[in-house]
Amino acid sequence: MAWTEFQKVLPSTARVRESGRLEIGGCDTVSLAEAFGTPLFVCDLADVRERLARYRDAFGGENVYYASKAFLTSTFARVVADEGVGMDCVAGGELYVAIAGGFPAHRITVHGNNPSRSELVDAVRAGVGRIVVDSFDEIDLLDGVARGMGVRMPVLLRITPGVEVHTHSYLMTGVEDSKFGFTIGGLAMEAVRKAASLPGLDLVGLHSHVGSQTFEIEPLAEAARKMMQLLAEAREATNLPLPQMDLGGGLGIAYVPTDAPAPIEDLAKLLHETVQAEAERLGTPAPDVSVEPGRSVVGPSMVTLYSAGVVKDVPGIRRYVSVDGGMSDNIRVPLYQARYTFLSASRPSVPHDQPCTIAGKLCETGDLLGEAMLPSLDPGEIVACAATGAYGYAMASNYNKQPRPAVVGVADGRVTVLARRETYEDLTRLE
Ligand code: PLP
Repeated sequence: MAWTEFQKVLPSTARVRESGRLEIGGCDTVSLAEAFGTPLFVCDLADVRERLARYRDAFGGENVYYASKAFLTSTFARVVADEGVGMDCVAGGELYVAIAGGFPAHRITVHGNNPSRSELVDAVRAGVGRIVVDSFDEIDLLDGVARGMGVRMPVLLRITPGVEVHTHSYLMTGVEDSKFGFTIGGLAMEAVRKAASLPGLDLVGLHSHVGSQTFEIEPLAEAARKMMQLLAEAREATNLPLPQMDLGGGLGIAYVPTDAPAPIEDLAKLLHETVQAEAERLGTPAPDVSVEPGRSVVGPSMVTLYSAGVVKDVPGIRRYVSVDGGMSDNIRVPLYQARYTFLSASRPSVPHDQPCTIAGKLCETGDLLGEAMLPSLDPGEIVACAATGAYGYAMASNYNKQPRPAVVGVADGRVTVLARRETYEDLTRLE
């Protein structure tokens, strides 16, 4: 694979330095690996800001809620806040970290298919802008909490619109048989009537999220059409203006150079046109369209740096190159059979013509990070895995008592530690 191919999956500031090494955010990645150790997540902050700005320009800042489940630290929350968009937090820990980072609570949407009473109390007390309610149990719970606190809480109802996106089945969330939300044509209208009748809740709109890592955007438009139909019926039944329609996240990214996700601007155009056309057809005002992108904000902005270790040849079958991380920093491969692109950070522009399988160091046969074409590696050579920003660090674990890696943000040659590397002492900290 050539450098021009690698560029399709690397963050926007990735360059080959005069020394021949991979540079991101004005920093030499091999020096970063030496300074911070490996595995190391390197986050191109300019790339993150660029994608947030594109979403902001396409939808309006007040209609973009970065899905913090993709990646969140308190310092990163400040980067998102600076870009003038909102944040989507799953109740509990994500909300805590966002608030700890000084993220303005009124720009936060809280989610969850099973939030506890105390998580809802925390959300209401923090003054979050809106809560997406997922079930009848939660409608009752939140109504009680809000009334107890003397608040009328703005809520959206999470709807499963019965739309299938072409993605891994674990990433489909809009199909009827899902743990999330109220089914269109099923109990959705009952939920609308109930939420509208309770004094602790201020029903402001509807929400759907049909799946993740989708390259086709038409299913999102299909969901928008079904949601508009429901919105019109809900307005009719309740006499409420219901001004908000949140269509979730889901836009895919390129993990390998042949992946061709739709641009953010195309998604915005399609959703706005669809909602407008449906509003006209149904004779109802067009709602504000909001979105919750996670992967397509932070996914392409990070690489993971590993040190290459043991090389094992299985004659006639394959060569395994083991690295010093694996499923503990990237569970997506065993979980979703995700594919990634690997390159030498020391020599990104030399021919990458040796096939190998990148293996992790965790004690599981399935702990493989993927197929790669690499140069013949020197011992300890730094290997970069591209597009690991979303659901990588966020899903990291201490399996095999592997300390979680550090995450550094880089921009204009400066480094900000977003999360320090865990130490062995951290592994016994809770005992
Ligand atoms: N919103 C909701 C409700 C989600 O469940 C998810 C991801 O699962 C997202 C937004 C973010 O999706 P993505 O990272 O694919 O943009």
